[in-house]
Amino acid sequence: MRISLVLGKKIGGRSLRVCRQPLQEKLFSSTCSSQIKEHGLVRTGHLAMAKENEVGNETEGGLQIKGEEVEVKLRIPDSASFAAAKSLFLPSFKNVLNQENHFFDGSNEELSSQKVVLRIRFYNSDQKAIITCKGKQVLKDGIGRAPEEEEEIDVQIARSFVQDPDAMLLYDDSNLIRKLKGEFEFKDGLKYLGGFDNQRSVYEWRGYSLELDLTSYPWGCLHEIECETNKPEDLKQILEKLLAEQCIPFSDAKKSKFANFKDQTLE
Ligand code: MN
Ligand code: MN
Ligand code: MN
Repeated sequence: MRISLVLGKKIGGRSLRVCRQPLQEKLFSSTCSSQIKEHGLVRTGHLAMAKENEVGNETEGGLQIKGEEVEVKLRIPDSASFAAAKSLFLPSFKNVLNQENHFFDGSNEELSSQKVVLRIRFYNSDQKAIITCKGKQVLKDGIGRAPEEEEEIDVQIARSFVQDPDAMLLYDDSNLIRKLKGEFEFKDGLKYLGGFDNQRSVYEWRGYSLELDLTSYPWGCLHEIECETNKPEDLKQILEKLLAEQCIPFSDAKKSKFANFKDQTLE
């Protein structure tokens, strides 16, 4: 037990070191795995976490992001077609989530210069808050892929970060924030970029969780069908066939919601 804790700690420390010195990291990780073999240890929670980090995604900035988000993104051109799509899935309706999205960057564009997006999202005002760090999304043929790591955070604390982004740098109870601070210096602090609302209607449909998103910007609205799945090509084909049969127009999304926000576009 004592040994596994020590090892866990070392490996935890390693994942921060990874970012700056990839070569040392390699040496260190081979030392670790031989130690693990020597002691014949089973994977503990700590080790499992380190393992996940190893196969995680590295952004251009060298930040290690744990997961990958893969989603189908189909744009619906207008509100009437969007209403038609909603009634089509109505028998599978689950709930509506009013999402409030807020975005942050380093005062010297430390995050955006590395294509990293930092978001705090509130659900139905004060039901839940999630902090998300995303790497660059590749959006091709209506399928988006991006490194993504998320963490639930206390709603009141999250609200205080929107009021004062620098408060995030003083907060030590979030792995995600600690990771960002470990990778970026933020010598002039953080800045708030603003945000937008999204009304997400969720449908549990044929084993998929379909999200029909109505995104509101001061310059207009976007309508989109989104769905996270590990079989995006299959789902996309099914959806396209169904929408075509129902004469509901659609197209591959060409731009993320955040990119539209940043550029003040509706593309
Ligand atoms: Mn996501
Ligand atoms: Mn999305
Ligand atoms: Mn999503």
